[in-house]
Amino acid sequence: MGRILRRFGKTAYAIVIFFAAVSVAFGGVRTEIEIPDIPGYLTLKCDLHLHTVYSDGAVWPTVRVDEAWTDGLDAIALTDHIEYLPHAEYGLSGRNRPFEIAKGRAAEAGIILINGGEITRSWPLGHSNAIFVPDVEMLNIEDARKSYEKAAELGAFVFWNHPGWRMPNEIPVWDEVQEDFYQSGLFQGIEIVNGETYYPLAFTWALDKNLTILGNSDAHNPVALDYEKNTVRHRPVTLVFAKERSEAGIHAALRERSTAVYHENTIMGKAEFLKPLATAILEVENPEIIIGERKYAVIKLTNHSCLDIELERGADECPLNLPMQVVIPHRSTAVFSVSGKLNDLVGQTLELPFTLTNFLVSPEQKLAIGLSIKLVPKTGN
Ligand code: ZN
Repeated sequence: MGRILRRFGKTAYAIVIFFAAVSVAFGGVRTEIEIPDIPGYLTLKCDLHLHTVYSDGAVWPTVRVDEAWTDGLDAIALTDHIEYLPHAEYGLSGRNRPFEIAKGRAAEAGIILINGGEITRSWPLGHSNAIFVPDVEMLNIEDARKSYEKAAELGAFVFWNHPGWRMPNEIPVWDEVQEDFYQSGLFQGIEIVNGETYYPLAFTWALDKNLTILGNSDAHNPVALDYEKNTVRHRPVTLVFAKERSEAGIHAALRERSTAVYHENTIMGKAEFLKPLATAILEVENPEIIIGERKYAVIKLTNHSCLDIELERGADECPLNLPMQVVIPHRSTAVFSVSGKLNDLVGQTLELPFTLTNFLVSPEQKLAIGLSIKLVPKTGN
């Protein structure tokens, strides 16, 4: 560097200062989203629906990367409207420009940046995001079906956005056009959460029709204007259970329907993912409980997540008396006692039945879990 500086003199000095200023610009503090990996998968935190000044958003593309970094995300997709460019009169119009502008920043910050666009049509088709698109300009086709077909041809992953938007009571309608496009394989996923709105019916459809479940912010403003970072008022996140932390890993996981949604203080998704997630989050600190004279045993349960966990006594039979409710705040340990004829059960391993009230495996059904404990005899005297 010294030799280069001598050669270019003051210009080089100015360039060095410039790069130094850029490299510290996404400083601040990153708050990790504490939702652990599950066996065989990394749990990647993604927001796959974001706008910039290149359509009707209010932020510059690199700011989306900085926000993703501070919010603890692994990946984002920039998905400006393809057919609606209200800032074009200011020269903000290229459909790949947001990605091109932000990709250097993303590489620097370690954020996986995905190129995409929002295919923006009126009811009944509505809006869909096409992501992993090499050239978004190619989707700017007047005929909607041809635009979706082009997305398919380009290998994009397409999902239906905010399906109840502008519908009476925000209740989505599965119209003929959705049935036609679904049967033709023109979209593979659906947002069950968009911004602060949750669409239970979309969750039911996702399960029944094997569509990938997504929850995204659809942020137009700076994220900090619309959300905070507490257990409830954070931006919605698509949890992607991926084999590797890469764009290809995320794409493969979305195609395999390996996702869940983290919305407010709730995780929604299929039991096959929520069950191992609950197991990774909840740890019985004393799985071997020594049974002595007392008629009760104390269980220590740690919550390794950023959610406040709410347990209710499950419906399954259990020979012990369990509490009706246990609340474990994020990153905390709770103690509770169980009682009954403990001495008769010495040597047994029990699965204490609980229901995780903020883990939804369908709009109506909460996740059932068993907390494993073993009752062991007191030794020594
Ligand atoms: Zn949007």
